[in-house]
Amino acid sequence: MSFQVFGLPVSRGVAIGRAVLVASSRVDVAHYFIDETQVDSEIARLRAGRDAVAGELAALKRDLPGDAPAELPALLDVHLMLLHDDALTGATKQWIIDRHYNAEWALSAQLEVLARQFDEMEDDYLRERKADLEQVVERLLRAMARGASAPSFTAASPTGPRDFAGEDPLVLIANDIAPADMLQFKRSVFTGFITDVGGKTSHTAIVARSLDIPAVVGAREASRIIRQDDWVIIDGDAGIVIVNPSPIVLEEYRFRQRQSELERARLSRLRHTPAVTLDGERVELLANIELPGDAASALQAGAVGVGLFRSEFLFMNRGGEIPGEDEQFEAYRAAVEAMNGMPVTIRTVDIGADKPLERMSINELRHEHALNPAMGLRAIRWSLSEPAMFRQQLRAVLRASAYGKVRLLVPMVAQLAEARYTLEAVARAKQQLAEAGKPFNDIEVGAMVEVPAAALILPSLLRLFDFVSIGTNDLIQYTLAIDRADEAVAYLYDPWHPAVLQLIAQSIARAREAGKSVSVCGEMAGDPSFTELLLAMGLRSFSMHPSQISAIKQRVLRADARRWAARLEQVLSAEDPQAACLELQRAMANVPPIASTVAA
Ligand code: PEP
Ligand code: MG
Repeated sequence: MSFQVFGLPVSRGVAIGRAVLVASSRVDVAHYFIDETQVDSEIARLRAGRDAVAGELAALKRDLPGDAPAELPALLDVHLMLLHDDALTGATKQWIIDRHYNAEWALSAQLEVLARQFDEMEDDYLRERKADLEQVVERLLRAMARGASAPSFTAASPTGPRDFAGEDPLVLIANDIAPADMLQFKRSVFTGFITDVGGKTSHTAIVARSLDIPAVVGAREASRIIRQDDWVIIDGDAGIVIVNPSPIVLEEYRFRQRQSELERARLSRLRHTPAVTLDGERVELLANIELPGDAASALQAGAVGVGLFRSEFLFMNRGGEIPGEDEQFEAYRAAVEAMNGMPVTIRTVDIGADKPLERMSINELRHEHALNPAMGLRAIRWSLSEPAMFRQQLRAVLRASAYGKVRLLVPMVAQLAEARYTLEAVARAKQQLAEAGKPFNDIEVGAMVEVPAAALILPSLLRLFDFVSIGTNDLIQYTLAIDRADEAVAYLYDPWHPAVLQLIAQSIARAREAGKSVSVCGEMAGDPSFTELLLAMGLRSFSMHPSQISAIKQRVLRADARRWAARLEQVLSAEDPQAACLELQRAMANVPPIASTVAA
């Protein structure tokens, strides 16, 4: 039966594929395809895992103390029975044979099928056996991870051949995917994803955009009502998910898929065109990256530098272990060298809120118990509370400056004292490097404007910092008091809110008055509906996901910044700035085509 699910569109395009349902806790289970010749060995790994767990359970039962409650041996028997049930291991084997999933993926796929059957049972006792089944599967996954020939347990990315003949594309469906897990999908088999929770600028959504794969978040019940292997269309532009579409609908979306590929190819021809407005204003289009390897896509997209390197992604998927100075230095240097003399803005670690570390050092307990982590010990607050960690990062960034143009960006500054402590830490890091005889260059240090307080005290901050970058994702969150990751209030997360626009306009104006450079690196920079408005505010530096650069460049090439600046107040003072801006966009779209302007 065909039906639709609605959510929030977070990453453009259309994906069509078979549903792979994964429980959030198992998203980091390895997902990769094996080839025909590996089917037997994969089944053997599954069998070995099963035998190991059977041995563990038998030993547990044997070693139970004499006074153990009578339920315990009975429970272990239930686990043993589930382990040997053909509905678990037999059906898992079938996923391996039919679909060429690796054993862990096959096992979690089968668990999702069975868990749903348990959920639908009338009998309370039987329904509750789902938890037992989950425990058995967790044990089995652990046993396989320990197995001699087990693949990397943390990689959601494929390590085996991914395109064997006849394989359908796959889309991932989960209740939630942590940003750290999303990162693993960079090289994964999935062509799109859907989550039940999340907002448009949650970090999961941001990483999806950086991967440039169609995605819908906040789809509420999706992971409950979509079934394993259903055909699914993800419309990442509209936020619609169509499950088991009719052949006509499928054909229509395949057509749209081809159209959007053609449009991308057309836009990519702008790659080497400088971003200059119709009235000759040069605009800098920079890239947001998460890992040094992303520099390649930044270059590919024609970025003229990196405006935001979210360094916290180097800290993820490491069991809470912090990367050392040398390791960080190598990562920063790799990005700097890849950018070939273009500026690379490295943001100090922005951990916390929806990007927690697996273990947050001495502050771990405080963070875990924070009632409202978005307002807690995150970003620069966390860095300043971990001085050794912070100086280590600062030294690594400074050392990378010997290899190209590096700028340092500080997230979530709200107080002048934070600014001073940060600059002191930079000075100390420089001193340590000088004493150790390690080369570095003088680097510019900038502040992010992400908290209304920072926008309001910007003239004072500008006396301390060399540049500013406006993080609109958080600025909206903190101005409107809307958790950016919470789909329940996503309808109130409004970049068009007059208060937000005024803070952005004010910050750009203050920075320009102070003669300091200013950019926007939040999602608004990559959203073409804001391009003219931001130009009107005087913004000349935009930082976004590489995949968004061409579309923004096209807007810049067609905009007349002076004409727009003359109409800024009209939008800012409107009760509905979005409608006012749209109206102006329509009215001003009547401009001469680019070719004739250039010729003139
Ligand atoms: C922002 O808040 O706009 C920003 C760019 O930082 P992040 O999205 O990583 O919080
Ligand atoms: Mg932010």
